[in-house]
Amino acid sequence: MKRILITGAAGFLGSHLCDRFIDEGFFVIGMDNFITGDKKNINHLLNNNHFQFVEHDVTEFVSIDDDLDYILHFASPASPIDYLKIPIQTLKVGSLGTHNLLGLAKAKKARILIASTSEVYGDPLVHPQTEEYYGNVNTIGPRGVYDEAKRFQESITMAYHRFHGLETRIVRIFNTYGPRMRLNDGRVIPAFMGQALRGEDLTVFGDGSQTRSFCFVDDQVEGIFRLLFSDYSYPVNIGNPHEISIKDFAEEIIKLTGTKQQIIYKELPVDDPLQRQPDISLAKKLLGWTPKIGRAEGMQRTFEYFKKLSPEELNKREHKDFSKHIKN
Ligand code: NAD
Ligand code: UDP
Repeated sequence: MKRILITGAAGFLGSHLCDRFIDEGFFVIGMDNFITGDKKNINHLLNNNHFQFVEHDVTEFVSIDDDLDYILHFASPASPIDYLKIPIQTLKVGSLGTHNLLGLAKAKKARILIASTSEVYGDPLVHPQTEEYYGNVNTIGPRGVYDEAKRFQESITMAYHRFHGLETRIVRIFNTYGPRMRLNDGRVIPAFMGQALRGEDLTVFGDGSQTRSFCFVDDQVEGIFRLLFSDYSYPVNIGNPHEISIKDFAEEIIKLTGTKQQIIYKELPVDDPLQRQPDISLAKKLLGWTPKIGRAEGMQRTFEYFKKLSPEELNKREHKDFSKHIKN
């Protein structure tokens, strides 16, 4: 049985990846320190004899007994509000954490795939974004802690590939959504869903003309799965190219949820990218991959998930308390 370590296992994407690899017949070791994740995302796996959970902060030395064939490094805060609240942890998990996992992959002769992001393109001056585009990132802006950590992560991954001959893969993930996103993580889909379900107005930042392109989690997981088993070491965009402005998206959510509330406008966060759409030609050519689930179906499935949250969960408005995870 092949053994895979998945970091960020209690998070949104990590938990779906654990499910997928268990379904594919792997033994999965999930690792997380719960800083932005939630145990409830993996509760259903804790008694599965093809799953082992290790609570650990990957910025500290990572030790795994026995062999490993693959590593997926998905540990990192991913929501702008999360990483603004824990900037140093965000920088550390992308840099020190990635270094630890590359070292582990080298020691175990395992193949490693790291989760990069469309944020490496910053506020892009090229549209749609192809993998060749170098990006437009403000290193010292508030988002810089995430963007630069991910850019460093790509660089050190390529260095391990070139210098040590390590088998590496890099996925540049564009906005992905679905069940198990944390309601109060501040990202636009859980934010709008929570507001609609609580009967609050939907908060659009800026004038809402900024665009995003939303990919349903099942499509993202399929793309990552195919990339891991490809022989391509350079970054690959995985996302859904169907672009929409945030204002139009808020209107779609008002229709979907049937809320009687309206849109209210709030200040646009600093360095919020004005447009984002993946060019997925490379993924199509290399992996034979295209997204299959449109926004209407994906959003309906996501809404069903949020609708089932308990009233206590739904009404817990405050952002997650990170204090017990912050040592420095
Ligand atoms: P998430 O916050 O739901 O999951 C991240 C998980 O990593 C959490 O469970 C958190 O507790 C864990 N974690 C963070 N720091 C850790 C540390 N030091 N040690 C151990 N565990 C730690 O976010 P997500 O949306 O599932 O994102 C997962 C990965 O995908 C991240 O690397 C993120 O940058 C990347 N990504 C996601 C998206 C998206 O749209 N969802 C887009 C681009 C990139
Ligand atoms: N956004 C918004 N209202 C919210 C939360 C987010 O208008 O309550 C906007 C945000 O400014 C950005 C887009 O929605 O333009 C996507 O934000 P998100 O935090 O989901 O991720 P990003 O793509 O910026 O990393």
